[in-house]
Amino acid sequence: MRVPAFFLICSLLPGADLVKEGNQWWSRVGVIADDKMEGRNTGSEGYMRAARYVAAEMERAGLRPAGTTGYFQPIKFTVSQIDETNSSLAVVKGDQVTPIALGPDAALNVRAGLAQKFEAEAVFCGYCLVIPEYNIDDLAGLDVRGKVVVYIGGGPSGVPSELRAHYSSGNERNKAFAKAGVVGIVTIANPKSMDIPWERSTLSRLNATMAVADSAGDAQPKIVFGARMNPASADKILAASGHTFGEILALADSGKDLPHFPLNIKFRATETLKLSEVESPNVIGMLPGTDPKLKDEYVVFSAHLDHLGIGGAIKGDTIYNGAMDDGSGIASILQIAQMIKDQKIRLKRSLLFVAVCGEEKGELGSKFYAVNPTVPSSSIVADLNLDMYLPLFPLKVLEVQGVNESTLGDDIRAAAKKVGVGVQSDKEPDRNLFIRSDQYSFVQEGVPALAFKFGYDSGTPEEKIAKDWLRDRYHAPSDDVNQPVDKEGAALFNRILLDTGMHVANAPDRPHWLPASFFKRFVKNGS
Ligand SMILES: [Zn+2]
Repeated sequence: MRVPAFFLICSLLPGADLVKEGNQWWSRVGVIADDKMEGRNTGSEGYMRAARYVAAEMERAGLRPAGTTGYFQPIKFTVSQIDETNSSLAVVKGDQVTPIALGPDAALNVRAGLAQKFEAEAVFCGYCLVIPEYNIDDLAGLDVRGKVVVYIGGGPSGVPSELRAHYSSGNERNKAFAKAGVVGIVTIANPKSMDIPWERSTLSRLNATMAVADSAGDAQPKIVFGARMNPASADKILAASGHTFGEILALADSGKDLPHFPLNIKFRATETLKLSEVESPNVIGMLPGTDPKLKDEYVVFSAHLDHLGIGGAIKGDTIYNGAMDDGSGIASILQIAQMIKDQKIRLKRSLLFVAVCGEEKGELGSKFYAVNPTVPSSSIVADLNLDMYLPLFPLKVLEVQGVNESTLGDDIRAAAKKVGVGVQSDKEPDRNLFIRSDQYSFVQEGVPALAFKFGYDSGTPEEKIAKDWLRDRYHAPSDDVNQPVDKEGAALFNRILLDTGMHVANAPDRPHWLPASFFKRFVKNGS
């Protein structure tokens, strides 16, 4: 879509040249997603090269260093990698042992603190969710102490998507599991909600996982075993229960209650891990505000600089460039910073541009920043997170996660409306998008936040383009600079985000959660 020039002049986008800005943005993506950056795995030399580029671009845009060492905020991580030849998984019923093939059938969870040898009984508990607000407790009345819980992804249809996403997060589940005495977890995705086919996603089981090195205190030592099953192999673990995966899927897909039952099997696992340590930085730049009081408050633009690095070959390519994920978001925040400088835009509040590491390892860099910010934590008033917003077609409607949770929803609606772009809320709650990106780290510290995708209506060609992209390019080496992209759409998106950020930075009051929002419980005293 090309926005008519008069429209832009009438709007708050003076001097916009979407063709030029789209090209500038895409050339930044080209640098970040270059093969030389080697996929920007957290802790790698390729990531450091990309981090130095981001710091240099922040400096060029007139941002002040706002890390702990210049623009950098280094973080130490422990790294765990599976030694799969010395690992195994099986289902045991009496003296009958059925091997579960690592790769084709299942992937073992990998993190420090897991048992080397494990054996325990298993119980199927539906979605295995505990959502007090909706009187949902899938663990109630089940004997799961010392056992493995097996569950299917998704959740009951009556629960709002952001709330469901929150209670589906590893953190919330682990709290409930620890309380119930669960020692192991096996998840089965609903094929309907799988972004990536199993054959491709299973390659990632060999990737290293990470944890912040000094965070041992909040690990979950009680959960000592975990695996995810290929849905196509799920009947291997259900067979002894008299149930089939097809029967459970049919119930889930028609919104009916799921049964809970013992699986009459034990999981037996041997897991050998290789452990090491790395250091990798977040990159942070700051634009000071001009208002004597409000300049001590900060609006954050965040995106993740890391991606998957070098991994299993797909069509002969081993470099996971991460052009959309999330070269696109990093390029956007740099572009927004540069536009503010070029147009001499003055803002009352200060802006923070935060490029985080460790997102692909579980939002670790953003979590570290949100908990250890380089400005007083109560002074962060909002987070606008740009992660893989997928400008694959013209921008007509923006899907915004968190749009109905805080006053930021009105801010993004107003900015989009100026250029004739609609706003829709999350339409695929089963994909848990609200917790699957870095905004959630800020949400958990009480900060109102939004995340974005190019939206579409179901049944449209745009839906097909977006779904095909996930199937073929998401977390694949083909998410590189040789893919179709709507550069003008991305430029328009950048303008909408700039306008939203300006509005939030200049408003008399800081954003706040709406009274009915579940997430307002995370607000700390004094903010
Ligand atoms: Zn990703």
